[in-house]
Amino acid sequence: MTILDLYAEEKQSFLDNCVQCGLCAEECPILPYTEIGNLSAQEIQESVFDFMKNGNPNQQAYTKAFACMECFKCTTDICPEDLNPLLVNELIKREYISKGLADRAYSDATQPESIHRVLASIQVPASDYRKITKPSGQQNARYVFFPGCNVYFQPEIILNALDIMDAIGDSYVFLPGLDNCCGDNFIFLGDINEGSIRAEELVSTIAGYQPEAVILWCPTCQCRFNKTIAPALDIPFKILSFPQYLAENMNRLALSDASAGTVT
Ligand code: SF4
Ligand code: SF4
Repeated sequence: MTILDLYAEEKQSFLDNCVQCGLCAEECPILPYTEIGNLSAQEIQESVFDFMKNGNPNQQAYTKAFACMECFKCTTDICPEDLNPLLVNELIKREYISKGLADRAYSDATQPESIHRVLASIQVPASDYRKITKPSGQQNARYVFFPGCNVYFQPEIILNALDIMDAIGDSYVFLPGLDNCCGDNFIFLGDINEGSIRAEELVSTIAGYQPEAVILWCPTCQCRFNKTIAPALDIPFKILSFPQYLAENMNRLALSDASAGTVT
């Protein structure tokens, strides 16, 4: 299956199975603060269903999709029909964009003038910037460490994470998050086609290192892997968050002198 197939299946499954119970809208933390916050969750989902079935733009479907802040809460076993309301939001956004009723609004981190690159480059010395924007070069490694793109707004975090990886001592490849993308920046904003291409390229690039696991810094990358990429693609490696990897390897970090220092 491809990621595009997954979205096509989700659309059909939504049309076949959504009972417009409204539970997904009821659990959404952002909707009460929007212009449709005075409507019942069922009313909102009836309009979402109408849009998905008939394609008629309406305020409820628009706001449900475009106000989404991607917390992934509605993807966590809330739907009694086992649907993924976040993917439905993204299908709605794709429709609005294709009808010319909304703009593509993403920032593409791969572009030389991207805000990610500009902000990263002015915060760290050139040598550190090179370190966090170039792959580390090995052919195969036990792990691939992929930081995602958002952490480049605080590049010192990547440098700290790399220091921790080095201190643990496993073989790993560092795969920069600006030239590689989990697809979320595109998919979340309705460009499912481009996001699918980016995600499939990323999986293929990581798989090329034949790792046991990819270690993800970004929780959004991890949710996107778990909720969109892994259900669609055969992924030949495990998916770990950096905290999971750290928790498994805390005993390999020499922290014994830490208590002698002063933490301010
Ligand atoms: S992922 Fe979006 S739609 Fe779902 S609960 Fe969070 S904000 Fe609401
Ligand atoms: S929780 Fe599921 S069945 Fe209920 S309205 Fe949302 S998508 Fe439809």
